[in-house]
Amino acid sequence: MNIHEYQGQEILSNFGVRVSKGLIANTPEEAVESAKELTKLTGTDKWVVKAQIHAGGRGKGGGVKLAQSLEEVKELADQILGMQLVTHQTGPEGKKVNKVLIAQNVFYPGDSKPEEYYMSVLLNRQSGKNIIMYSTEGGMDIETVAEETPHLIYKEEIDPGQGVLPFQARQIAFNLGLSGKAFKEMTKFVPALYNAYIGADASLVEINPVLKTSDDLIMAIDAKLSLDDNALFKHPDLAKMRDLTEEDPTEVEASEHNLNFVKLDGNVGCMVNGAGLAMATMDIIKLSGGDPANFLDVGGGANAQTVEAGLKIILSDENVTAILINIFGGIVRCDRVANGVVEAYKKIGEINVPIIVRLQGTNAEGGKKIIDESGLKVFSAITLKEAADLVQELV
Ligand code: GDP
Ligand code: MN
Repeated sequence: MNIHEYQGQEILSNFGVRVSKGLIANTPEEAVESAKELTKLTGTDKWVVKAQIHAGGRGKGGGVKLAQSLEEVKELADQILGMQLVTHQTGPEGKKVNKVLIAQNVFYPGDSKPEEYYMSVLLNRQSGKNIIMYSTEGGMDIETVAEETPHLIYKEEIDPGQGVLPFQARQIAFNLGLSGKAFKEMTKFVPALYNAYIGADASLVEINPVLKTSDDLIMAIDAKLSLDDNALFKHPDLAKMRDLTEEDPTEVEASEHNLNFVKLDGNVGCMVNGAGLAMATMDIIKLSGGDPANFLDVGGGANAQTVEAGLKIILSDENVTAILINIFGGIVRCDRVANGVVEAYKKIGEINVPIIVRLQGTNAEGGKKIIDESGLKVFSAITLKEAADLVQELV
């Protein structure tokens, strides 16, 4: 689960990570109130207005702006709230901004440029350890740094049983070229960040930039956190941070039915049991000249309800011109699935796209018979090749 920057900052702050202070606002008026409140709390008289969306690259896209006065806070908030913010992570359609974070401006344009670092914590599945990845080249696309100057990205592996050892925190501060007070600050910042990653059961904590202020404080200016869905049951307070407006509506609906669904851009909808078979099915669709409209794994125990929910979700996509249902009857019996398809079809009513059902495994013949005799616009196939040919013919 992804969360907003302001929520990430709250988590980090609870674990003792120094973050730039900010307050959230839903309207330009609230933005002004937040800015005033921030001045009371921090003494700041300059602010940053930051769009809250589940995507990075907001700065370049025009979603992070500096304000010098309260009027400007209001103007910028008015401009940013409601905008369709396009960044390299949102896709061309962008994301609608519903909230802005009013943050203290921790450095002013015109000050000598502060040092910006990159730091993230994530899991290295190969070694079974966590990694702290960091770089002196903060504030810009880390992907570009990785491509052009990979030697400027450092990695420190952390044994999950031990956590960050003091020498590792010092190593990181040293590699970032710090000394004196900033060095000490960094040796506290690193374990706090790691503890937030562990404590929140995050799969990623990414701070770009980490800032060294003019008075040598180390501070997180941005906060990107992804939380592990499988651990959310342990954190009801974090689970509440979910913002459904940031997620694809069909994916939200699919998750309510425990369907594994990822929306894609093609024209052939597919419903498959098992992730591996789903991948193979998408390959077959491609091979037959179509383009998959989605990835949908209905899981092992497909029944009439799951088939119906899956069909509805696929049909809600206007691009879909054919649907391929590819079920291997291993855990389920094919005749049961076939009945499920027929039942779901009748229940949904008007379906204007051809449905191709390929059933293989237990009672495959019986399943095919049910489909063929249903009188519905459903085409049955036994082999994948037959199904692919049908897709090609019908698309
Ligand atoms: P992102 O573009 O989505 O990664 O959003 P960030 O939170 O990283 O903000 C983008 C950029 O705005 C940062 O890289 C900074 O250079 C700049 N920025 C963020 N906070 C401040 C601030 O307090 N003062 C100034 N002057 N610039 C800031
Ligand atoms: Mn950033």
